Amino acid sequence: MTRQPTRPRAIIVGIGTECSSFAPHRTSLSEFGIRENDRTLERFPSVRSGELDDVEFVAGPVARALPGGPVLRSAYAELLDRVLHAVRSGAPWDGVLLDIHGAMLVEGIDDVEADLARRVRQAAGGAQVVLAAAMDLHGQPSRDFVREVDLPTCYRTAPHIDEAETRDRAARLLVRALTSGSRPARAWCRIPVILPGEKTSTRVEPARSLYAQLKHPPDGVWEEALWVGYAWADEPRTAAAAVVVGDDLGAIRDECGRLAESFVAARNDFSFCGPAEKLSRALDAAHEETGAPFFISDTGDNPTAGGSGDVATTLAELLVDQRITQGDGEVVWSALVDAAGVQTAEDAGVGASFDAAVGGCLGSPGRVRLQGVVDQLVSDAAGGAAVVRVGRLRVVLTERRTPFHTREDYARVGIDVQRTRLVINKIGYLEPDLQDISRGWVMALTDGAVDQRIEHLHFNRLDRPLHPFDELADDWRADVELFGTAGASVV
Ligand SMILES: [Zn+2]
Repeated sequence: MTRQPTRPRAIIVGIGTECSSFAPHRTSLSEFGIRENDRTLERFPSVRSGELDDVEFVAGPVARALPGGPVLRSAYAELLDRVLHAVRSGAPWDGVLLDIHGAMLVEGIDDVEADLARRVRQAAGGAQVVLAAAMDLHGQPSRDFVREVDLPTCYRTAPHIDEAETRDRAARLLVRALTSGSRPARAWCRIPVILPGEKTSTRVEPARSLYAQLKHPPDGVWEEALWVGYAWADEPRTAAAAVVVGDDLGAIRDECGRLAESFVAARNDFSFCGPAEKLSRALDAAHEETGAPFFISDTGDNPTAGGSGDVATTLAELLVDQRITQGDGEVVWSALVDAAGVQTAEDAGVGASFDAAVGGCLGSPGRVRLQGVVDQLVSDAAGGAAVVRVGRLRVVLTERRTPFHTREDYARVGIDVQRTRLVINKIGYLEPDLQDISRGWVMALTDGAVDQRIEHLHFNRLDRPLHPFDELADDWRADVELFGTAGASVV
């Protein structure tokens, strides 16, 4: 294949996940899926289609894992080696596009995405390389990270329905920087507010309006981005943040400050994006409703937010509630990671009795005796799963930590969720496929590593003051820092 010698070259790489400091689970190497070549490009439709071929993009390794507990140091080292090897083998590069989440924790390393960006920059060719990053809005871009990354941006929706669009936008920003001959500066501001994800859905105010204002940047601004941050990381960088990229220093500084101040001004307006109750009240609400399916989010141990997935305290409450086990309609609780429980069910076989202690297999407190009948057994590429029936309640056990976000996820374990009266699920806000069929929904504020009641958790390493733990001054003013331009100073 011939290459036009004048075309800038950029490599796409990344390591991404989201980690709760409070999860006993540890994310191991085997939990990462690694994309390369065409599978990496599937994440960047405009790059893949050739629409952005003013730059030659090379698809390197992009590793991603389901959110969970901190990543093992050895796993990060191995993934980093793989990324750096790919970067070095084609260096020097004109650009790098980081495809990352932005709220990863690695044992013993603070602010790991800044470490990743720094090492990738060194491997790619140093200071002249332009780095872009496509991130989740639950990422945590620190000062050190933004010092390394010229063009960081993130999703503008939660639930995230603009993932591919965001990655494409980051790719376009990189193409613009590499082909226009103009390297923009960026303004960064830490916003001393941290909120659980379920209070910052962009479906509702004030996040909806805060994010809507990003769509029409003024002249001189290339990109505006707002991160709500990740509430369950006990490290100093934990906070919301704004970054504005552009070639007009005054405009990016002013816009960044304005975004940060609008976020702080709205801090007391954030509330749960739906009814939020303790579990017993959520169950009462479910029983007052006749529409089906009714959903209860078992929010504290949501694996896609970083929960371990092995917390069984909700199950304990369900098993002693006769409205659940002996009531009128079918009830499902999903899902508890418990490989030994799945094995027990497999050994017994469908239709046989099941009697075992389940829960806490990754270190979360509490075990629950589950006595029932094996209703379903599944073994496929996603791992093993078993459904145990206790009267009208079906309990889903999985070999691996497994989210249930769609009707298809339930169909895989033989459950027609649309014909189920009550679905209790380790999830936060409902993902669109379930939201579409929901006839009622309550978030139960339950225990786990992503407890929505963050004031109840014991943080030790946060940079204070930080809302909601501390009062912020009524006249709080943004402290914007500029990067990427000679002579720019803290404003
Ligand atoms: Zn997210």
